[in-house]
Amino acid sequence: MFQALLIDKTDAGQTVAIQSLHDDALPDGDVTVDVACSSLNYKDGLAITGASPVVRKFPMVPGIDFCGTVSASSHPDFAPGDAVVLNGWGVGEGHWGGMAQRARVKGDWLVPLPSAFTPEQAMAIGTAGYTAMLCVLALERHGVTPASGPVVVTGAAGGVGTVAVAVLAHLGYEVHAVTGRLSETEFLKSLGAAEVIDRATLSAPGKPLAKERWAGAVDVAGGQVLANVCAAMKYRGVVAACGLAGGMGFPATVAPFILRGVTLAGIDSVMAPKADRLQAWARLATDLPMHHLQALTTTVGLSEVAALAPAILAGQVRGRVVVKVA
Ligand code: NDP
Repeated sequence: MFQALLIDKTDAGQTVAIQSLHDDALPDGDVTVDVACSSLNYKDGLAITGASPVVRKFPMVPGIDFCGTVSASSHPDFAPGDAVVLNGWGVGEGHWGGMAQRARVKGDWLVPLPSAFTPEQAMAIGTAGYTAMLCVLALERHGVTPASGPVVVTGAAGGVGTVAVAVLAHLGYEVHAVTGRLSETEFLKSLGAAEVIDRATLSAPGKPLAKERWAGAVDVAGGQVLANVCAAMKYRGVVAACGLAGGMGFPATVAPFILRGVTLAGIDSVMAPKADRLQAWARLATDLPMHHLQALTTTVGLSEVAALAPAILAGQVRGRVVVKVA
């Protein structure tokens, strides 16, 4: 038997409760994992609250990521005792996820836990942090360097944002952090932000082209904020767009793209190929200072997750939340 957070849907609506389940209830897969921790991501907030139809079948164990130890495997790459990490692949959406003491998944979805991290540290990074690194890698792939000029991170006090700020600052970039919570200014500066910008200055419709400010951007907001960020990119600037915390829309013009040669690089962590995942985790091991990771992490138990889900959607969670399930 194992404990799991289970989302179910009946005619009366959606329910979320911790339940004791038998191993027989686990979904198909060639690797079974004793989960040590998962983490709370924005998408988990959507799934647990039902605010958006993220969950594609019920009952569902949420948790789009986890870290744990293989207990059984018929996959050639994994054996009992191996420490593994999973991010995405529809886990916690269409396949039972990490907010349970046991998970059964396809071995192809797993990557080895990098030796630099404990399971808790890996989930302090979690899908948000791994996505932040995918964004940094996209900026680099498109030629952005610290010498190119300042870079901007939106949703800076959230999960993706805090890790992006810490990594980019460590790499030597001048990081401008956009936040709706100016009360987090000192925290963001402690992570390495050189400047903290009030999100309100980017939330109203702006000009197709604004003053050139940034050579690179990591955007978790989407919507008007993303449009204004694109308009304020320097010539040949690069925007890595990964989120929709401020909206799904994109009320922009093509002006930044055709007049300044700006690149909009889309970032998807869910179906990213294994090579990209391994590269991102390897770079996190070298480029994310551990004292910053500790500073931006809160740890909770399974029983606290349901109450935190609305808070992450409301932008009230600072940094990352590790969910200890073991
Ligand atoms: P968090 O909730 O931790 O952070 C989001 C942050 O966005 C908030 O903390 C807040 O930061 C800011 N924010 C909140 N409301 C608004 C708003 N109305 N307009 C602009 N900014 C706002 O979530 P995550 O960091 O985990 O995820 C961020 C986004 O990235 C989500 O949309 C998520 O779905 C997406 N994502 C996408 C992935 C992918 O594969 N493409 C993978 C992981 C995440 P502040 O208070 O500092 O402004």
